[in-house]
Amino acid sequence: MAVLELYRRAAWRDTRAQPARPVSEPSQWSFPLNQPDSTARRRLLKRIALAASIGAVATANLRAADAADLPLIAENDPVATAVKYVEDGTKVKEAEGNRCDTCSLYAGKDGAAQGPCQIFKGKAVKAAGWCASWAPQM
Ligand code: SF4
Repeated sequence: MAVLELYRRAAWRDTRAQPARPVSEPSQWSFPLNQPDSTARRRLLKRIALAASIGAVATANLRAADAADLPLIAENDPVATAVKYVEDGTKVKEAEGNRCDTCSLYAGKDGAAQGPCQIFKGKAVKAAGWCASWAPQM
């Protein structure tokens, strides 16, 4: 729902709930969203926050669905060789036991064999993989 529509509905409900006032009295209800304690303002902000959170969850779900379809990056891909990527980190002493699934740049699901990596756009890496850009999760 568009934000403008949310504003219109919130403003309309807020003005309906207010008592009638003389015409000569300065309006304090004309712009309900300007009032710091306005229920319409609170309602609108809640709806904006809700819409934003729903959007974030939907985007995350779409990303997870897309991640399953990503092709694996090849070890001999020029981008992969530039960061010394390997599919099995145990074969590289330099990895020191670190793996892609413990890297802050890895975006695969827990327990998945592979997942997306932020440095390889449109490609997946092995969860057991490793590269020289490995960074600890915070
Ligand atoms: S940046 Fe992290 S997740 Fe990506 S390939 Fe390197 S170690 Fe794996």
